[in-house]
Amino acid sequence: MNKADSERMAGILEVMGYKKATAELEADLVLYNTCTIRDNAEQKVYSYLGKQAQRKRKNPHLKLVIAGCVAQQEGETLLRRVPEIDLVMGPQHANRLQILLQQVENGQQVVATNEQHILEDITTARRDSNVCAWVNIIYGCNERCTYCVVPSVRGKEQSRSPIIIRQEIETLAKLGYKEITLLGQNIDAYGRDLPGITAEGRRENTLTDLLYFIHDVEGIERIRFATSHPRYFTERLIDACAELPKLCEHFHIPFQSGSNQILKEMARGYSIERYQKIIYNIRERMPDAAISSDVIVGFPGETDNQFKETLSIVKDIGFDQINTAAYSPRPNTPSATWTNQLPEELKVERLKEINSLVEEIALKKNSRYSNRKEEILAEGHNSKDPNQLMGRTRTNRITFFNSKGPDERIYKPGDLVTVLINTVRSFSLSGTPIS
Ligand code: SF4
Repeated sequence: MNKADSERMAGILEVMGYKKATAELEADLVLYNTCTIRDNAEQKVYSYLGKQAQRKRKNPHLKLVIAGCVAQQEGETLLRRVPEIDLVMGPQHANRLQILLQQVENGQQVVATNEQHILEDITTARRDSNVCAWVNIIYGCNERCTYCVVPSVRGKEQSRSPIIIRQEIETLAKLGYKEITLLGQNIDAYGRDLPGITAEGRRENTLTDLLYFIHDVEGIERIRFATSHPRYFTERLIDACAELPKLCEHFHIPFQSGSNQILKEMARGYSIERYQKIIYNIRERMPDAAISSDVIVGFPGETDNQFKETLSIVKDIGFDQINTAAYSPRPNTPSATWTNQLPEELKVERLKEINSLVEEIALKKNSRYSNRKEEILAEGHNSKDPNQLMGRTRTNRITFFNSKGPDERIYKPGDLVTVLINTVRSFSLSGTPIS
């Protein structure tokens, strides 16, 4: 989500005439788009800011902008801590960057953290890739997971209209993009704030309806979406994914803990049995689907047994990949105030244990690709070997292969290439292009 916001803000700066500087310490304008999901991400911001504040004291024309979730969370406190900052802007203000910078040009020091109706994109994002693009479909989150800072920094759910989303995808297709990833903090909430009830009394404009609505955009070969919430993941969505050919067989569905007691304390709104049922249903319809997830270890009060329940779910489900994190208490979240916090050493120990299990299982899961022919969408060159391309399988496995095909054809980013996989690692594959 932050990357997508950064690309939109970079697009606005380009329209304003800014060009990308060669180095961070040479730029005339520095914008940090910040993340507060864990404490260490937040601390990095302060160390970067220190260096820029020093520059600003020598060069008053330097413009210093702090955007994103740390900006939203800290607001004016940031100005007190680093008075050299010109603009503090929360994530809901990303599309207003030009207006806010004009206020800075007029000599103001600006804090933009008020709740905001998110403006439709007023400019073209400067996207990092020419092949794959993010498309925001819903901003914010109305859930109240007890550990999560997102609702307080990204505000209430705001869904974009299906017509505008389709228009954006059509424009991307015309520009040559081949893959889109629909984005939302809780993507299954899409459309809850839009009007419309079907003749059968069902809510219109769900994520599933949107997938049917955008699926036929010509030129787009692959569609993905993230992040799913087990509480709202429906059978109808699974059916749509099985039925629509461009929908990739990869599902990112965070389970967070294998213990029902911890899930309750996290206020996640589902049981681990419900989670297992979703995965079972996905695999029944799409047997080769890849499943990835997020998990938190060391949540306040997590016992050894509860941690073991998490390990056992990791084994039982056999995830293709998991983003693991040690619990980090965040400001303005209920669980940060609880007195049963676990010691850091225990959290780190559990994190190490789960990481080695995740790696072992990922390698086992990846072994199924050995000697298989996979369709890879080439995204760019391998930064370590310019003769190789890097792309992904439909199931989101990173794959490297020679850019030269058997017929002397040179493949390029944007090509869909059939690759025979011959090397399998825990988190990537390599192979030879065959057509
Ligand atoms: S659904 Fe996701 S973003 Fe929303 S509160 Fe829960 S963890 Fe945070």
